[in-house]
Amino acid sequence: MPPFPRGCVWLVGAGPGDLGLLTLQAAWALAQADIVFFDALVNEEVLRLTRADAELSFVGKRAGRPSPKQPEITRLLVTAARAGKRVARLKGGDPYVFGRGAEEAQALVAAGVPFRVASGVTAGVGGLAAAGIPVTHREINQAVTFVTAHDAGGGLSERLDWPALAAGSPVLVVYMGFRLMREIGARLLAAGRQAEEPVAIVCHATTIRQKVIRTTLERLAAGDAEGAEAPALIVVGEVVALAPVLSPFSFAESIA
Ligand code: SAH
Repeated sequence: MPPFPRGCVWLVGAGPGDLGLLTLQAAWALAQADIVFFDALVNEEVLRLTRADAELSFVGKRAGRPSPKQPEITRLLVTAARAGKRVARLKGGDPYVFGRGAEEAQALVAAGVPFRVASGVTAGVGGLAAAGIPVTHREINQAVTFVTAHDAGGGLSERLDWPALAAGSPVLVVYMGFRLMREIGARLLAAGRQAEEPVAIVCHATTIRQKVIRTTLERLAAGDAEGAEAPALIVVGEVVALAPVLSPFSFAESIA
């Protein structure tokens, strides 16, 4: 394993939830860290891998209270590193997939703080697999697109070219789209995707609360997603139709 020197920050991916999906590199980083800054989507069981004397600092959004702003988080990372600590910055999934890890890395570089990334299993791959949905299948799709539906203000991103996405990507995996599912469905239908196209809403993937709601694009656009809960991924495409075949056991049974 690579050394974790004092004064260094590791951006660590915690995976989508299941402890088994944490990488050995992440476990190694957590075992050595003097301080761990962690987010809301991290399975807190992971923190049992830290040293008994490690400082644990929650920097996510909780119970309606806003999370610290990004500049504040980077300031905390830089200050801890400059104090000679081994700093682990723990994020759900992979730190570089819609997780602002890249922004934090840029800030560390700008501050002259050495860092490295311990990649994690992103929810859009590992979480889908736990739901029986492969992101690619040779006979179905030669491309897959990871999309964040959000813009910085929380509305549907206008920077996305929905017609191009609809035409160019047979499978779309939408992060942070839960509250925007109607608009997402409507945009894809308007761009020519089929009303009957299969859709899955994969909620709390890889955890004991995992729930997979299978629907169609038309029903998604109508907001018909009974039982769905955030955090969730919205998966659009024919790979979703494989779920009944590839997940013959419920998640709870398969981990028993
Ligand atoms: N860096 C993370 C993604 C952060 S964005 C990663 O690589 O997975 C947060 C979004 O990720 C959530 O809104 C949701 O869409 C998705 N997500 C993260 N964990 C999830 C889980 N266990 N189940 C379903 N969706 C999840």
